Formats: sequence, C-alpha cells, structure tokens
Amino acid sequence: MKTAKVSAKKAAKKEEKKKDLGLGLEEPKEGCDDSKCAWHGGVSIRGRVFRGRVRSAKSHNTVIVEWGYHRFVRKYQRYERSRSRVTAHNPPCMRAKEGDSVVIAECRPLSKTKGFVVVKVGGKE
Ligand SMILES: [Zn+2]
Repeated sequence: MKTAKVSAKKAAKKEEKKKDLGLGLEEPKEGCDDSKCAWHGGVSIRGRVFRGRVRSAKSHNTVIVEWGYHRFVRKYQRYERSRSRVTAHNPPCMRAKEGDSVVIAECRPLSKTKGFVVVKVGGKE
C-alpha cells in the first residue's frame, strides 16, 4: 500500500510540466529548441552561479560575461579590485544583448571554452 502511494505522487509530479532549475528562477515565456538550453534542452545545472554583465554578444549563441569582486591582499591589508570573465552559452530564448545583466550557471562543458549557460536576463545586479 505504501509503495503505491509513493508512485502515485511521483506520477503527479511528472505531469506538471514546469521545470525548476533549483535556483528560484522563473521559466522564460519564450520557448526554444536548443539542445544546449538549461530550460528547454538537455543541459543540467551543477556547480557555481554568478551574476554579471554581458561584455560582448558578437559570437553566435555565445556571450562574454564579466563581473567584479574584491580580493584581499595580505601584504597591504587592503582589498584589490578584480574581475572575472567567462564565455557562456546564450540560447535563443534568452537573447542576452551587450550590456545586459544576466545570471549564468555552471554546466557541463558545452564547447572548448564554454562551461556556463545563461539562465536569466535582467533583474537587479
Ligand atoms: Zn530555451
């Protein structure tokens, strides 16, 4: 009896089509058929999540995302301004443009240089 109840619950969960990436983000209204999309494709999110700004969106389905942080330098007992820059996959449903604030999440390697995917465009920085 107990096992039957559990499987029924699982089936009900499957019927709800809404995807949850585990980041508390809303699914985009627009759809896409990109297999490398975190929302509509087969890419799963694992690892780190960052918020940054798009520095370049010149490549096809790719954006360069940059964000700044402060690094403590022990010798001078002060913080140094530093920044990180990574390439991230920009699926058609995201359409991140240069200057956009985006949320990127780490995933499996998508190409030689891409290991992140854009999961949200806009919002507070
Ligand atoms: Zn998509």
